[in-house]
Amino acid sequence: MHLSSEPVALQLHRVTRRYGKTVAVNNISLEVAQGEILVIVGPSGCGKTTLLRLVAGLDVQDEGSIRIQNRVVSGDGVFVPPEKRRVGLVFQDHALFPHMTIARNVAFGLHRLHKAEIKQRVYEMLDMVQLAHMANRYPHELSGGERQRVALARALAPKPDILLLDEPFSSLDAGLRMAMREHIQRLLKGINVTTFFVTHDQEEALLLGDRVAVMNRGQIEQVGTPEQVFHQPATYFVAEFFGYTAFISGHVTSAGLETELGFLPQRLSLSSGSEVNILVRPDDLTVYPDENGTAYIARVGFQGMHCMYQVALPSGRTIYSLMPHTYVYAPGTRVRVELRPGHDLVCFMNERAISTGVSQVTDHHFAH
Ligand code: ADP
Repeated sequence: MHLSSEPVALQLHRVTRRYGKTVAVNNISLEVAQGEILVIVGPSGCGKTTLLRLVAGLDVQDEGSIRIQNRVVSGDGVFVPPEKRRVGLVFQDHALFPHMTIARNVAFGLHRLHKAEIKQRVYEMLDMVQLAHMANRYPHELSGGERQRVALARALAPKPDILLLDEPFSSLDAGLRMAMREHIQRLLKGINVTTFFVTHDQEEALLLGDRVAVMNRGQIEQVGTPEQVFHQPATYFVAEFFGYTAFISGHVTSAGLETELGFLPQRLSLSSGSEVNILVRPDDLTVYPDENGTAYIARVGFQGMHCMYQVALPSGRTIYSLMPHTYVYAPGTRVRVELRPGHDLVCFMNERAISTGVSQVTDHHFAH
């Protein structure tokens, strides 16, 4: 399933890769639409890189098949080598050729073209990543971010059907990483290239992906828009992966949910009296100092523009609240907690989300 009406550019069908007893990729099926940015996100060791290497043709799955532009590239007795798959690759360490100028690095995959065409394409690519003025420099004369832009230009120069990126920003410092994400997202959307992007960084995934696939132990736990995986996680794992996740207990009544933070007029397709766990995120909760409050500030995390308050509830549960830094509450301050999410909260039973049966986050946003 994918959201767009565009044709499928990449299709993985029941792909499994084992290393001895480790099942690095376990029966994964996925489709990526033409021009879509799909981000695979998950903790270290979950199988992201293996999945990307299978698509690239750098590794072979034990079961299942992979199609690019509706052509089988691996599986069903077929194996198309990496250089014939029309994929562009960008890795964390950019791997430029140190003895070649930037222009020659970008020209590397263009040997089948005429000289004049190569030159034109190289400058087109360097213009795109705003590095045309550095064409004659060598990689060691560039900053990390510039080198990564050259790696991208090199990968895109042969007009690949699919661009594969593996943690391309993780060697950059935080500020540069942020700028690069924005730059590259604009660029990829501008040329409408189908992109398969691997990262362990949840913020990066939400920011860059048209859709995000959350991976855990070789399997995809959920695929959806950034809003869906964040606001409507299907499993505990997905909920917890996106950080500062807390749960409060809820008692189902015919009118809604009774919780220790008040009543939520949210109806579930469960019988009255059922008990659920309600996912509450820092942006769903506001804390006010109140000497009669039954909760208290357990910890303050200063984050610059915001403070993340860890709040202990009388039930013994802990919740998080994100407040502008202009509100300063010391640890130990008694507080009142208000739950005003402005959207349906996801409820869990036995570690799986229950469909609310009410409003859903819409699929409005395929293109950013
Ligand atoms: P990620 O990219 O999410 O960090 P990987 O795809 O690199 O995860 O690894 C997934 C699992 O497969 C890990 O348990 C890893 O140790 C194992 N693995 C990856 N490559 C190999 C290999 N060449 N030989 C043996 N085990 C491997």
